[in-house]
Amino acid sequence: MSNTLFYDLNLADLTELLAGWGQPAYRAKQIWQGVYKNFWASAEEFSTLPKPLREKMTAELTFEPLTPSLRLDSSDGQTRKTLFRLADGKQVEAVLMRYDKRRTLCISTQVGCAMGCTFCATGQMGFFRHLSSGEIVAQVMHYARLLHAEGQAVTNVVVMGMGEPFHNYDNTLAAIDRLNDPDGYHFGARRFTISTSGLIPAIERFTREKRQVNLAVSLHAAEDSLREGMMPVNKRYPVRELIRACREYVHATGRRITFEWALIHGVNDTPEEARKLAALLRGMLCHVNAIPLNPTTGYQGQATTRERAEAFRQTLEENGIPCTIRMRRGIDIQAGCGQLASRAGETNPDLTTLPTTREL
Ligand code: SAH
Ligand code: SF4
Repeated sequence: MSNTLFYDLNLADLTELLAGWGQPAYRAKQIWQGVYKNFWASAEEFSTLPKPLREKMTAELTFEPLTPSLRLDSSDGQTRKTLFRLADGKQVEAVLMRYDKRRTLCISTQVGCAMGCTFCATGQMGFFRHLSSGEIVAQVMHYARLLHAEGQAVTNVVVMGMGEPFHNYDNTLAAIDRLNDPDGYHFGARRFTISTSGLIPAIERFTREKRQVNLAVSLHAAEDSLREGMMPVNKRYPVRELIRACREYVHATGRRITFEWALIHGVNDTPEEARKLAALLRGMLCHVNAIPLNPTTGYQGQATTRERAEAFRQTLEENGIPCTIRMRRGIDIQAGCGQLASRAGETNPDLTTLPTTREL
């Protein structure tokens, strides 16, 4: 019999499962809190439970679906990236960034991605499968446990790792809801940010659901002609309609939206592009996060320079659009989206040849 992944269950599911074992509801709550409040990750740690119940838990439930296969720490020690092997042997990565008092996690929602953005390492891999809600939750709990052991805690979660979260909408939002459970980990919805390449029907659903979760949209170009070549999804959901959906989101929720822009030298980092972008976003409660392109093997474009990035930011701000240039972080460990997993997939047999590798 195959085991149930603990993190795939809600408290109600767990209560039902335990009822089937002849256990009262309070036992389910004890287990739930042991995992989400005490960060226990194996049946043995539940020393207050009767031994037969612990044995049953070990036999029927999986608490550790993720096997770290590689761990990389950036040279400044602030970024840690872990490549996890899943039960079926597929791999995903999740990153912990420690800056000032923030402890931000970047988590994955799919193995690979079907959107095929040309500049993205995950897009270059293609799509393998969705992660279950539990596989998404487990990434957070892995790092929550690690930080807990150091007397620290996760402060923010960005759903910006491998995959398109809105292509796996139900599992992604179920994972967020589970982590948000007041009886469990109780991680505030406002501390999550979901990033999407612009799947309009999902943005509309998200708007209707009026969630507290922050929304980021990967734009990268202000006109269809340029965006189409970078992001095939634009053929289905063109810029104008996308921006309309974004405006409706802001209007309905009153929440500020973030637009992401990977600055590519000579492609989308010119003052002219900045002006087009400002015109597109005029009057919207929004913010632009611009990041110099991370290099990937499958894409020829080059990162912008510091000067050009600064000029881009200035032009946007002069035209009324707030913009931050994000520093490239953890670049020496290929912490840019999907970079490690795709490279590991390519050269799979010898992971230790990667730079600054520290094997577990
Ligand atoms: N699929 C979602 C979330 C994961 S990608 C999305 O596309 O929004 C997270 C962010 O990294 C997106 O803004 C994406 O466009 C950006 N990105 C992908 N490849 C990049 C690269 N090589 N350099 C810089 N940013 C990149
Ligand atoms: Fe997928 Fe996002 Fe990469 Fe595009 S940028 S291929 S949507 S992960």
